[in-house]
Order: sequence, then C-alpha cells, then structure tokens
Amino acid sequence: MVDNAHFDVAIIGQGPAGMTAALYAARAGLSAATFERMGPGGQMTDTERLDNYPGFAEGVDAFELAFAMSAQAARFGAVSVGEEVASLELDAPTKRITTAFGNVYTADAVILAMGAEPRPLGVERESELAGRGVSYCATCDGGFFKDKVAVVVGGGNTAAGDALYLSRICSQVHLIHRRNTLRADAVYAQPLAALPNLTMHLDCVVDALHEQDGALSAVSVRNVKTGETSEVPTSALFVAVGTRPRTGVLEGTGIELDSAGYVVAGETGQTNLAGVFAAGDVRTKALRQVSTAVGDGANAATAAFEYLSLR
Ligand SMILES: Cc1cc2nc3c(=O)[nH]c(=O)nc-3n(C[C@H](O)[C@H](O)[C@H](O)COP(=O)(O)OP(=O)(O)OC[C@H]3O[C@@H](n4cnc5c(N)ncnc54)[C@H](O)[C@@H]3O)c2cc1C
Repeated sequence: MVDNAHFDVAIIGQGPAGMTAALYAARAGLSAATFERMGPGGQMTDTERLDNYPGFAEGVDAFELAFAMSAQAARFGAVSVGEEVASLELDAPTKRITTAFGNVYTADAVILAMGAEPRPLGVERESELAGRGVSYCATCDGGFFKDKVAVVVGGGNTAAGDALYLSRICSQVHLIHRRNTLRADAVYAQPLAALPNLTMHLDCVVDALHEQDGALSAVSVRNVKTGETSEVPTSALFVAVGTRPRTGVLEGTGIELDSAGYVVAGETGQTNLAGVFAAGDVRTKALRQVSTAVGDGANAATAAFEYLSLR
C-alpha cells in the first residue's frame, strides 16, 4: 500500500461494522479504505458458526461470512489496508491515520470500528498462561481439551453457551459465577440444568491459577459469601466475563468515551468530533452482535456521506 494516500473515508477495523461501512461508503461513490491489523471478520471469526445472523436458516460459517462481506465491499471499490492503526489525529478537517508501519494516510471522514475484545479475569499469571490453558474463546480452543476437565468463568450468555459447548467435548465442566444467579437468557436454564457433567459454583470467584510444567494445572475457587476455598484441578480455563472496547488508539484524540471506555455515539454514529463516526461494538449501545454491527456500519457510512456532501 502506498504511503500518503488520501481517502474520502477511512474506516478503522474490518469487523462486520467496518466492512458494512466500507460497502455503503463505496456504493455511495466515496473513496473508502478499511484498515485492519489481522484479517477480515473481527470477533465473528472467534466463533465457528453464526446461528443468529438473519438470512441463513441453517446458520453460516463465520469465516465464509467474513470473506463474503470483504469481497462485497471490494466489488464496489473499497480498498483494504492490512496495517494496524497506531495513532489518529481527528480534530482537524483532514484526519491523519498513522499505521504501525509508519505510513501516514489522510481522510476527510473517519469511521471508528475497532470493536471490542474479551475482558481478562484479572488474576495473577493470567497473561502468562494465556494459550497454555487460559482461553477466551471456547469454540476456538475447546477442541484442544477433549475429555479433560474445563472451567468456565462468567454468568452471561457467552459463559452459558461455552458451558453447553464444552460439556459435549470435555469430561467435566465447572461453571463459576460470582453472583447467585446467572445473567444468561432464560433459554439457557433448562439445557444447563440437564447436563450430567456440569457443576455450578455460584457466589464463587477464581482467586488464583496454578501451573505445572508451564501450563495451567488447577484453579483456586473462593465462595464470596462463606469465604470457603477449594481447588479444582483443570488444564482449561475459559474466561467469559464480558468485553472491553479497543479504544487505545483514541488516547489523546479528544474523542469522548463513556465510563466503560466505549465511544459516545448515537444511532448515526456521530461522535463529539466533526467528521468522525463510530460503528459496532466500539460505540455505546445496548446489544453487541453482528446484526447490530452491520446496522451501525450502514448508518455511519450514510452519516459520513451526508457530512461530506454538506460541508
Ligand atoms: C466468541 C464470540 C462469539 C460470538 N458469537 C456471536 C454470534 O453467534 N452472533 C452474533 O451476532 N455475534 C456474536 N459475537 C459478537 C460479534 O462477533 C460482535 O458483536 C461483532 O463482531 C462486532 O463487530 P465490530 O465490527 O463492531 O467489531 P469487531 O468484530 O471486534 O471487529 C473490529 C476489528 O477492528 C480491528 N482493529 C481494532 N483496532 C485496530 C487498529 N488499531 N488497527 C487496525 N485494526 C484494528 C480488529 O482487529 C477487528 O478485526 C461473538 C463474539 C465472540 C467474541
């Protein structure tokens, strides 16, 4: 990719929000580029199949959907830049995008679509054992722990879904949640209750990780009400305690963030800075899903088009 290229719209991230924004911007006749540090798809590709994306009665392979979205945007001329964005200057009419390769691009509008990432548990040794027993994606890594004991931490839909998924692969699954009821949708209650190999640890937290030969060997579990502690031998800990926005690159840009770090933006994606829009998981919103990310991308590109037309 050439240095010093200028685009009408620069879109940061090739998740479903960014790729939809690119499709809408390019189809509206704007020159649009998406910047991506990995491959297309974002968090979508952390799961094998999507069962709740409309239009696919039997579900859809997440990678297939990601590459189809990318190809569709490219068909209308959207440019894909395979570079991580290292810093942004967003307050002037011409926005500057500097990538980790040191290349500088400019754009008249920017759509922030950097998404989110799993929130860490925050216990000691977590990062050193990541990939050596500690995982943030059961559908990605569950298969490595066939017939082993797995521990899932969390109480939302992801944790409940992970427990169900792992119960078919692992010999035993422990689900640990710090409150006395799960936050997961009611639809999970019956299937979880019916699992013969699931042990629930409610009102409990994981306090410590233990390792042997460089890999996870056990977790310490503490009941927050009684103070009682126990050790669960396991080689697999799946952390499902929510997500956090990828907004590090916005430091010092003047973009307004909420208390949890999400970009403050409504349905059109308009942020507090002129010509800067946010779409998908990175913005303040109620439901973070592929379907809502796609809707955000369309809205943000349309708002960017209006901004550029009316300047
Ligand atoms: C395990 C898992 C399973 C899920 N299952 C489902 C499901 O079944 N159905 C459903 O609807 N949703 C599901 N989701 C949620 C869904 O994937 C997200 O809501 C959706 O992907 C958000 O899209 P996005 O485009 O906003 O962000 P993301 O998908 O997070 O994409 C953001 C992209 O931006 C890139 N990026 C970030 N910072 C930079 C930077 N500085 N420079 C360059 N690139 C950058 C990232 O690499 C990423 O590719 C799941 C999520 C996970 C983690």
